[in-house]
Amino acid sequence: MAPPIYELDSLRKVFDDGTPAVDGVSLVVGAGEHVALIGPSGAGKTTLFRILNLTLRPTGGRLHLDGQDVADLGESALRRARTRIGTIYQQGNLVGRLRVVHNVLAGNLGRWSTPVAFASLIRPRGVADAQRALEQVGIPEKLYARTDELSGGQQQRVAIARLLIQDPDIILADEPVSSVDPSLAVTIVTLLQDLAARSGKTLLMNLHSVHLALAHFPRIVGVRDGRVPFDVAPDKVTPELLEALYAGQRDEANGVERFNALNAFGNACRPLPGFVK
Ligand code: ADP
Repeated sequence: MAPPIYELDSLRKVFDDGTPAVDGVSLVVGAGEHVALIGPSGAGKTTLFRILNLTLRPTGGRLHLDGQDVADLGESALRRARTRIGTIYQQGNLVGRLRVVHNVLAGNLGRWSTPVAFASLIRPRGVADAQRALEQVGIPEKLYARTDELSGGQQQRVAIARLLIQDPDIILADEPVSSVDPSLAVTIVTLLQDLAARSGKTLLMNLHSVHLALAHFPRIVGVRDGRVPFDVAPDKVTPELLEALYAGQRDEANGVERFNALNAFGNACRPLPGFVK
């Protein structure tokens, strides 16, 4: 395995109201690895990502980033470390009334001073880079479009273009395709994976869709009740593991798919070993 980029050792996060959102998670993620996290709503996946992108301090355990205990980082080292991590959310987190070019160039905010950032809002700095990033995500013609006039899928592409400008070592994608239709979801997952693979970035993705996770990721981490009941290759994810992971928690109103042993992966996905029935 590649040298670890993340080492999580008994990580815990208990919120002030007593909720143990992350309850003893130990994992090692190699640099350049692609990992999917699956599990029911409320399992703790987002909280884990917030710890991993260094915006939330764990209440227990240790997190090492590139061999360094993040608890030892001072404010400026923490800020630098955060620029190495790009997070993409379900709703892109873009400023709707700004033109696309500005949202893409916001990928520079971690390295720009405040005056430069403001100046760039008037006269965008690095337009050619933004244009190249949009070409890579397939919407070069949207450079000067108003962001809130784009479709959900196009907005996710803008968010990915912003990541390209940020050029982080690690991409954390938190339900990046939950608001787009299924065919587009595959395109966006594949796009993120290709971009990560091309430059050796580590990619961790929270996914509602078990189908997508199993079909596209070499490593599947199940999360439930703040813990990790399994961490295996997709062909080792049995219907029993999935049943236990989602037991009593299926929430179809929120779009979490139902699955069963007969059709665990949906019709669109290639069959995987171990699921003949
Ligand atoms: P997931 O991303 O798997 O849906 P979350 O990490 O969002 O799960 O939530 C895990 C648990 O932590 C849930 O019970 C949720 O209600 C709780 N939680 C998340 N954020 C907070 C917070 N800021 N304050 C209190 N409880 C929270």
